[in-house]
Amino acid sequence: MAINTIEIWTQASHLSAKQYVWDYCFSEILDISYTIHIHEAKEIFLKFEDKTMFMPDIFFERYPKTFHQILWDELQPQNPKSYTNPFTQEEIIGLYAMDRHFDVKEKEIHCPIDIFGSIFFFLTRIEEYFLSRDAYERVDEDQQFLIKHKLHEKPWVNIYMTLVENCFKHFGLPSKNLRSFSVIPTVDVDMRHKYLKSTSGLKEIGYLFKNARLSLVWDLIKDKIQYFKNKKDPYDCLEEMADMFKTNGLEGIFFFLPIHDAANATYELSHPEVQAQMEGIGRHHDIGLHLARNHSLELQLEKFQPKPKKMRAHFLKITFPNTYQDAISQDISEDYSLGYHHHIGFRSGICYDYPWFDIRANQKTMLRIFPLCLMEIAVDGYYPKINPNEFWKKSEQIILETKKYNGNFVFLWHNSNLKTAIWRPYRAIFERFIEQ
Ligand SMILES: [Zn+2]
Repeated sequence: MAINTIEIWTQASHLSAKQYVWDYCFSEILDISYTIHIHEAKEIFLKFEDKTMFMPDIFFERYPKTFHQILWDELQPQNPKSYTNPFTQEEIIGLYAMDRHFDVKEKEIHCPIDIFGSIFFFLTRIEEYFLSRDAYERVDEDQQFLIKHKLHEKPWVNIYMTLVENCFKHFGLPSKNLRSFSVIPTVDVDMRHKYLKSTSGLKEIGYLFKNARLSLVWDLIKDKIQYFKNKKDPYDCLEEMADMFKTNGLEGIFFFLPIHDAANATYELSHPEVQAQMEGIGRHHDIGLHLARNHSLELQLEKFQPKPKKMRAHFLKITFPNTYQDAISQDISEDYSLGYHHHIGFRSGICYDYPWFDIRANQKTMLRIFPLCLMEIAVDGYYPKINPNEFWKKSEQIILETKKYNGNFVFLWHNSNLKTAIWRPYRAIFERFIEQ
């Protein structure tokens, strides 16, 4: 046996699902190899030499033989329990967990939390198969476990994996987490121009009047006068953003919408101006598919040359598992849609990219998920009320959490929110994001 190999002892059920989590946690992230052994005991044993970590197997004990037999009321986590992490003394939560403390001895660690079942719960987004949807057919965020319990601003999967790492360090087996922090700036190109018509902007003015944001109305009017003076549209800044990313040594992703209709883009992808713009930006950055609503993926991809490998759904509208199954069948290899539209933080509980597991088909797939940590309009809405200082403080929390685990800070800033009067005061924050 190689010196850095651990043995995992488990019951024989749900092995493909468990192996997905172990492959990811041990082989990919901690660089610890493992062998699987079957036993009758209910708990999972993780053995290194003569030392053992014991862990409950609560999630998979409740998980029926097939996905179709799941009764969500029986499988969903109850209220989270609070524990003290024995290595950092910080609070750690358990969603599938026992009522006992951590017990750390020289050769034995008893962990009350079902760590691998919980990681499976977070990464697969299994709850999103069962929760109700909003008007845009998105899963209601407020019903999601992490939001419901105000736990969404911490990456719990990373916290759990660090705990496992610390347990094995305690046993004398250090891991080699070779990751480094990275910033991945992304832009969803929903609109290329604000002032397409002379009436453009009126709806916004109406909204601001209604919501008593009168200083913003004046800003908007000044904005429009500026436009008529110099014809420089405030949404027309894709090249400027691309240059800023490049100056900071970053590769951004620009997601273009291939469908021009009321529910999607306000531009035609095939227009020579758009094609030239994509070509220019594509020299240093990636061009991705911004998945349009209500149109087949195959048809959308045909509008690109070459076909993109990365995608993000417009309105972050993902339907599990269909959207991802379609994506895989069309050779999409990376998705950037898993983020919140009304909150900031970690929807999959993680700040690393990871392979998507199709729970219906019960198999790991080739699709890689890059969770979105923060979208600018989710920090405080389309017309932010908090001042730039507060805006930065809220955002910084997410950056600090991501840095702590050497994760990917994937953020989205629309080109429509860089140069308008309303968003101009927040531009320095966008700049700080890319200077991290
Ligand atoms: Zn969009």
